[in-house]
Amino acid sequence: TEAYLGAIDSSAALNAYVLATHDKARAMAQTSDERRAQGDVGPLEGIPLGVKDNYATDTVRTTAGSKILGNFVPPYESTVTGKLWADGAVLLGKLNQDEFAMGSSTESSAFGPTVNPWRKTGSTTKLVPGGSSGGSAAAVAAQLCAGAAGTDTGGSIRQPAAFTGTVGIKPTYGRCSRWGIIAYASSLDQAGPLARSVNDAAILLRSMAGHDPKDSTSAPIAVPDYEAAVGASVRGKRIGIPVEYRVDGMSSEIAMLWDRGAQMLRDAGAEVVEISLPHTKYALPAYYIVALAEASSNLARYDGVRYGERVAGRDIVEMYEKTRAAGFGPEVRRRIMIGTYVLSAGYYDAYYVRAQKVRTLIKRDFENAFAEGIDAVLAPATPSPAFGIGEKSGADPVEMYLQDVFTVTLNMAGLPGISVPAGLSSEGLPLGLQLIGRPFGEEGLFSLAQ
Ligand code: GLN
Repeated sequence: TEAYLGAIDSSAALNAYVLATHDKARAMAQTSDERRAQGDVGPLEGIPLGVKDNYATDTVRTTAGSKILGNFVPPYESTVTGKLWADGAVLLGKLNQDEFAMGSSTESSAFGPTVNPWRKTGSTTKLVPGGSSGGSAAAVAAQLCAGAAGTDTGGSIRQPAAFTGTVGIKPTYGRCSRWGIIAYASSLDQAGPLARSVNDAAILLRSMAGHDPKDSTSAPIAVPDYEAAVGASVRGKRIGIPVEYRVDGMSSEIAMLWDRGAQMLRDAGAEVVEISLPHTKYALPAYYIVALAEASSNLARYDGVRYGERVAGRDIVEMYEKTRAAGFGPEVRRRIMIGTYVLSAGYYDAYYVRAQKVRTLIKRDFENAFAEGIDAVLAPATPSPAFGIGEKSGADPVEMYLQDVFTVTLNMAGLPGISVPAGLSSEGLPLGLQLIGRPFGEEGLFSLAQ
């Protein structure tokens, strides 16, 4: 714990943490030592972890990267983080993220961007760590924690993992409780770990997962020993390569990485076959309707009355307006407006209902592939390696949204996906491949990823 706290202090320039909880970390480590002295050793005993700042942490400020929650100190603990501490882990602090997890670069945080610890060979240009769990990914990559908790609504664990050479898994929707996690899009949000190895990710997910009566969408399914799956043979597994993922303009570097990944699996005894997921091209536009509709509803609660910042007005309506105008950043405001529009009378059927139908078709594509005996799907995690800070945060938000082209389909279908480091770009940056599994098939993903 002391070593990590020291590293956090000396790496403040990365801006990975929005809050380092030195005193709390030392107290938790002390308690852990006492438990250990009594022979009471949990599965994560004494392991120092960082937590994305959208997990409510009891008496520790929780902002979700937003000014509107700049002074919010929850009087309760999220289920997932509570499980980590119950298993012996130590909280080092809260990690930076895009505001309300909306973004792919961690540049929309009210606390400034996080810097990726990686640089192009021979370059000093600062790169983004991806997002929205960019603080989590940067902290894991720079060894500012032993592992971290992130969240993934459309790629926010897997894309930053790919950009930082770390392992990140978004489990099946319902595998981890969402209770106490600040909601972005409730039908898509999932918790998951980022770690330096597949094995570490397996150990962390085992502690984070499990049914929770406080989240009606959490699944009452037993949590397997994921670590035991890490070394398991993949001989005879059928891996699908979805032809629709060969998107126009895919860089030769990513295409080669993908081929190399397929070959690695063949060498390990798996069978690799081409498959079709015909509705793939509709996933991204449909995601940006469903996610923003849910976000506009979830973010209605930040009204200056119940949480965080308040800006006074002449009457209550003006107080709401001023509070929300001052408290939300531009990307969040844009999304609330789009989400409200697609839910409004007259547009609801044309946009929201239609996007939900597309979602069903996307889910069916995967069900058909699994019914034909496919065990997992192999795809790139991202269209490119990490990009420069400021490079994609300009006038056209779609530039950033295109980052999610390979990741959002799983969230729409509720499926698990793992991003695993698979090589370096010609400029020396990490690249990730993604494995997509059957519902609650995380064990299979861990063995394939390893
Ligand atoms: N980049 C995607 C978005 O902005 C996904 C974010 C996430 O997974 N939280 O919606």
